[in-house]
Amino acid sequence: MSSRRDFLQKISLSAMALPLLPVSDALNLEDIYDKPYDGPVLRVAIMGLGSYGTRVAEAMQSSKKAKLVGVISGTPSKVKEWQTKYNIPAKNSYNYDNFDRIKSNKDIDAVYVITPNALHHDQVIRVAKAGKHVICEKPLALNAKEGQEMVDACKQANVKLLVGYRMHFEPKTLEVIRMRNAGEFGKISFFQGLCGFRIGDPTQWRLNKELAGGGSLMDIGIYALNGSRYMVGEEPVWVTAQETKTDPQKFKEGVDETIMFQLGFPSGAVASCLSTYNMNNLDRFFLNGEKGYAEMQPSTGYGPIKGRTHKGELTQPHMTHQTVQMDEMADIILNGKKPVVPVDGEEGVRDLKVMDAIYEAVKTGNKVALK
Ligand code: NDP
Repeated sequence: MSSRRDFLQKISLSAMALPLLPVSDALNLEDIYDKPYDGPVLRVAIMGLGSYGTRVAEAMQSSKKAKLVGVISGTPSKVKEWQTKYNIPAKNSYNYDNFDRIKSNKDIDAVYVITPNALHHDQVIRVAKAGKHVICEKPLALNAKEGQEMVDACKQANVKLLVGYRMHFEPKTLEVIRMRNAGEFGKISFFQGLCGFRIGDPTQWRLNKELAGGGSLMDIGIYALNGSRYMVGEEPVWVTAQETKTDPQKFKEGVDETIMFQLGFPSGAVASCLSTYNMNNLDRFFLNGEKGYAEMQPSTGYGPIKGRTHKGELTQPHMTHQTVQMDEMADIILNGKKPVVPVDGEEGVRDLKVMDAIYEAVKTGNKVALK
């Protein structure tokens, strides 16, 4: 216990002033950060050296069980920069034409695909065929059919497929899930998820249907959707949804600006969510049960996540999401660890099925049943 206490004090200055609560046992945090680690390490190549790829690479420098060893990129200048910065050998550097050759590279275990959404499907399948494990950014694909093809390809190649759902390892989020599982909120009746930001440059790929596959729902609304599933702890059985668009120039056909969607769960719980590319300061979860509540704001940004329940402030310490995510994902891939909330390909497909239904509900105005 004292090593855990030391660890908590080390990683969060703010935690020094707060009563220390145990971080969820789910993460075994003290085991990896408080002691020297000399166990197996997942050797990772990042595909797509853009803004999020850069963030993951930086965070991974503090991971104990995952190490950045390779790159796949279409931009030679970035490859050169990363080779120097992260000590990546030329033999572990690929482009989009030749990365199938990674098959014969014994120094790379997994590829983390961090490219525009529409590219995930083909890239993940190619990586699987090259015999490497795959971590793929959200959304896993553009629709459930594509996502299922990726799951099947990885199964066939006998490699693991994980989705970059970093919130599934976030300590305050896991504490709320622990409380719900322990019955501390009583029967869950309602979840609200509000996720959005005002998007800038109209020429970016996020506003290009061909590369993004949609608009705000694919990019940021997916957090409200995924969050409603892990917060309520059930799979939705119906969906209703409405879209509003104030700027059809910027948000062209097939690129949603704002979508409101509602989900119904088998227990009778309901969720009400907002996904938008047109409002700032929108990052809020609220979970209500018969005996209590949790509210988090910010709830899915890079943190620190803040929140409280009917029992008081959530005081679990902030940790860089991607550092913990990569350590936990290494454990899942190398040791078969079971996370509290799944991050496998099937989990990605579950969200895509609901997203397909949300887009159908927007189009038809109907309540769509989910199987
Ligand atoms: P960026 O535009 O910053 O980077 C994407 C990178 O993909 C580019 O820099 C480029 O890298 C590569 N790329 C390959 N083909 C193309 C193409 N046709 N057009 C543009 N880029 C291309 O995007 P992000 O890093 O913000 O997003 C990438 C993925 O990560 C998305 O799926 C997004 O949803 C996800 N994401 C997840 C987050 C999370 O918190 N989990 C946060 C942000 C994004 P190169 O030059 O090396 O080829």
